[in-house]
Amino acid sequence: MLNKPAGNNRYLKKLNQASIMELIRINGKLSRKELSELTGLSPTACGSITRKLIYDGFLHETGHGESTGGRKPVMLEIKPDSYYAVGFDIGMTQMQVAVADISGRILVEKNIEYKLGISVEEAVLLADKQLSEIIKERKLNRKKFLGCAFSVPGLVDRSTDKIVMAPNLSWNHVDLSTKAAEILKMPVYIENEAMCSAICEHWIGKCRNIGNFVCINVESGIGAGIFINGALFRGTGGCAGEIGHLVVDENGRACGCGNNGCLETYASVRHMLQRANERIREGYSSEYVEPEKPIEWNQLVKYAQKGDSMCLDILNDSAKFLGYAAAYIINTLNPEAVVIGKCFKQYSFLVIDVLTETAMKKALPYPASKAVIMVSDYGMNSSALGAAMIPIRKVFGK
Ligand SMILES: [Zn+2]
Repeated sequence: MLNKPAGNNRYLKKLNQASIMELIRINGKLSRKELSELTGLSPTACGSITRKLIYDGFLHETGHGESTGGRKPVMLEIKPDSYYAVGFDIGMTQMQVAVADISGRILVEKNIEYKLGISVEEAVLLADKQLSEIIKERKLNRKKFLGCAFSVPGLVDRSTDKIVMAPNLSWNHVDLSTKAAEILKMPVYIENEAMCSAICEHWIGKCRNIGNFVCINVESGIGAGIFINGALFRGTGGCAGEIGHLVVDENGRACGCGNNGCLETYASVRHMLQRANERIREGYSSEYVEPEKPIEWNQLVKYAQKGDSMCLDILNDSAKFLGYAAAYIINTLNPEAVVIGKCFKQYSFLVIDVLTETAMKKALPYPASKAVIMVSDYGMNSSALGAAMIPIRKVFGK
């Protein structure tokens, strides 16, 4: 015997609810008649599902649409502020927190700094503390949270939801999910940070209507989130998108992975800063850079903007090699867009032309003519926002 009929009915009901929610999300507003036509469900079945969705607070009635003869139909739309979700992006020394409502509206974006070496327990307690504060400040109802998601700079095993490895956090084989569910008392999801950023771009960002795109995150490391035909592409082992270790210069400096001249060794924030401070140690100084005084990341960007040649060279080199990576992606996947995000947003205005020109020159002309290169609007918050969208997307069957 196959599945029990009751299980099948429940499954179908959920599926129908999700497709009605998704149709309304895409179209903004729809009448019951339009929903019936678009789903192929009978008007009675549509009426019963929308009644339940209104009762549960997912939808509400909002004015009347155009009449096609007879009475004007009542329109339905997603009810904003009815349900929420929270995303936590755990970095080496800071956590980004984002709360959004079911309509995709961003309610809160926060950044909390901490010392290097945060443990799983500390991260969970910090996340819970932040959420409790936000709930109190914004007078939200914790029961209205659909769930939370953690964005981590590492590899997540989808079958167990465990983090296999997150080298920058020194987390190996950790079960963040179970610990977080115990403390936060809501459904918990774990996702790789670049994949979270890609989810953000697809749900509320620049790739809302784009099925094939790649989102490159520039941070301490470099990673990519890949969407193919409107769905996240994880690869066989869940680690698709490790583009930070594309070799762009085999005579380049050693990378932590054991190879030489990986993209990260030119374009990650950590390596760019390392290069700048090496030059300073070797005696470089300028109108902006003081002799023998190490600089921080924000200074590197600031001095480059003011015209410091060494800082500008480092950012331009990084953009050139990111352009190589974008060209490889364009040739391999033929995407409609490549979005560069996180730290890149800070200095994109200085180097986006170098990146785009390199990518377009190195890629084959035909796939290059089909692709656009864009800078993410969300910068450092894209992974936390994408994480917040994960529990929300479940309502829409994603
Ligand atoms: Zn490497």
